[in-house]
Amino acid sequence: MLNVQNLSFSYEKKEVLRNLSFSLEDGEILAVMGPSGCGKSTLLHLIAGLHHGYGGTIETDAKRIAYAFQEPRLFPWLTVEENLRAVIANRAISKEEILAVLSKVELKEAANLYPSELSGGMKSRVSLARALLYDGDLYLLDEPFAALDDELRDALSLRLRTKIKDRSASAILVTHQRSDAEALADRILELTPIS
Ligand code: ADP
Ligand code: MG
Repeated sequence: MLNVQNLSFSYEKKEVLRNLSFSLEDGEILAVMGPSGCGKSTLLHLIAGLHHGYGGTIETDAKRIAYAFQEPRLFPWLTVEENLRAVIANRAISKEEILAVLSKVELKEAANLYPSELSGGMKSRVSLARALLYDGDLYLLDEPFAALDDELRDALSLRLRTKIKDRSASAILVTHQRSDAEALADRILELTPIS
């Protein structure tokens, strides 16, 4: 469950969000769309508790948040496999499970590589693999498919949807692609820039 009421936020002098309200039930997936710079990433940051000093309220009973950042955030000193293991602290993961999820994102050969050895698209696929492995209550996905080809984005969007629905988790997908929004989400929220 997520309930956002009258959310307002500014960076220094720049007002980004004004009186935004929406709510999400368990098991519901919301796509957030809107032009670049309208505050989509800021909204996810606020929900994840990464910025303070906002107006309005953000209520959630989610204890475990899975966050695929727009700029994938991997530990540079850990391999791909170690990056995946680092976020899954609450259960044992077999090598087979790691390789299975890496093969879903077409990175099976990359298990022992370090982030500095990966392209931007490969990093975002590691980030997606992490979201697929993680048992969250709330998934925040910031343009997770941006660097993927069509076939892989369709397959992964279906897998993510299945994972989120099976867990009755809630999710917000930020995307520029209406087809992704329609494939993965139950509802679309259009954000408009503040004039
Ligand atoms: P979107 O994800 O929709 O493209 P963002 O949430 O990243 O938009 O950014 C919204 C606005 O806030 C943009 O004008 C951006 O330049 C500005 N902004 C983003 N992050 C910062 C920051 N850390 N400091 C100041 N301004 C920022
Ligand atoms: Mg963004």
